[in-house]
Amino acid sequence: MIPLPEAQQFVWSLAERLPSVRLPLREAAGLVLAEPIVATESVPPFANTAMDGFALRSTDAVAGARLRVIGTVAAGSVFEGTVGDGEAVRIMTGAPMPVDADAVVIVERTRIEGDDVVVEVDASPGQHVRPAGDDIKPGDEVLQPGVVLNPGVLGVLATLGRSEVSVIRRPKVGVMSTGDELVADGAPLGPGQIRDSNRLAVGAAAAAAGAEVVDLGLVRDDESAIEDALRSGAECCDLVLSSGGVSMGDFDWVKVVLDRIGNMRWMQVAIRPAKPLAAGRVGHAAVVGLPGNPVSSLVSFELFARPLIRRFAGHSRLERPRILATVMDPLPEPPPGVTSFVRVRLTQADDLSWSATSAGAQGSHHTAAMAAAGGLAVLTGGGVEVGGRVPVIAFD
Ligand code: AMP
Ligand code: MG
Repeated sequence: MIPLPEAQQFVWSLAERLPSVRLPLREAAGLVLAEPIVATESVPPFANTAMDGFALRSTDAVAGARLRVIGTVAAGSVFEGTVGDGEAVRIMTGAPMPVDADAVVIVERTRIEGDDVVVEVDASPGQHVRPAGDDIKPGDEVLQPGVVLNPGVLGVLATLGRSEVSVIRRPKVGVMSTGDELVADGAPLGPGQIRDSNRLAVGAAAAAAGAEVVDLGLVRDDESAIEDALRSGAECCDLVLSSGGVSMGDFDWVKVVLDRIGNMRWMQVAIRPAKPLAAGRVGHAAVVGLPGNPVSSLVSFELFARPLIRRFAGHSRLERPRILATVMDPLPEPPPGVTSFVRVRLTQADDLSWSATSAGAQGSHHTAAMAAAGGLAVLTGGGVEVGGRVPVIAFD
């Protein structure tokens, strides 16, 4: 059996960062930036107030002082005059500071008396004023290539007036199921049949990992049908994910076809579930043959395919963060030399510590526990006692 890290290194090495494309910001969420972003403008572009209140000269802002209100300025407009001694301008958050005003007293600390305002507190120079360029200055390298376009990053790009951005292209991932026993789309079950769940589940996992998913269909256990599906997937996609047909059964045609048309490595990985794995290339495309059992296919996706997709997409952090959780149930001990991935529910206590309980029956066909799981507890060696701590791959 091949140790997990060795198998992962091999599979992940099938991906190279894809070329960049220019996309409208709206389509770039979650992708990886492929250009440095240098500011050409100040943010904010002008000094403005952080609060609703009165703009005035700080030298006038002495508790109890009474100032004449000479106008009002809202966000989006400009006060045309200047603020002299003993004067104040009513000002709304985001409005530009009037000329010669250098501080704002918040409205809650003032009262109106006729045409005047009485300030109830002192103000120091610059109080509640956001100077021009306080956030970003022209010439600042605000974002480096490799940054993920999360909401904060998208916000900065919009702030700087960008409408398009250069990002690493979204990987195209074809997903197919194989098996004569499978029926699609909730159709009634005939004798010996089960429903195809892997295509949907693996496709959803690939989409969540940032892929553009191509449905390569449900393919019969037929050598030429499988060859056609794999070849057309390899033509259109960066990565093809098949499920089923990679074991030692008589009708495991995926194995036969990939051996003939691809350059594959067949692995028995020292993990449970998801021991069998095929990975390699057909033409230019990477191909990963996931095991058919539904839990195995998703665990295998998590350990091998998700990081591979992220590598195509230019991410530097390929794996999910792991958390340490206290084990509340006896979890099945892995066989010697094997790492097991146990489906667990996770809960977080008030002190922020995590605890893990079994999500249910742990067979590779037990889909209910997979659905209930918040993560995969990683067990090696002699297992872990109740009350002991275990690393968990947390799904979100
Ligand atoms: P295989 O690797 O093709 O021998 O499949 C292993 C097990 O997984 C068998 O019990 C299959 O019926 C089941 N299986 C294979 N593909 C799927 C699928 N797409 N959806 C649900 N179960 C599947
Ligand atoms: Mg099969």
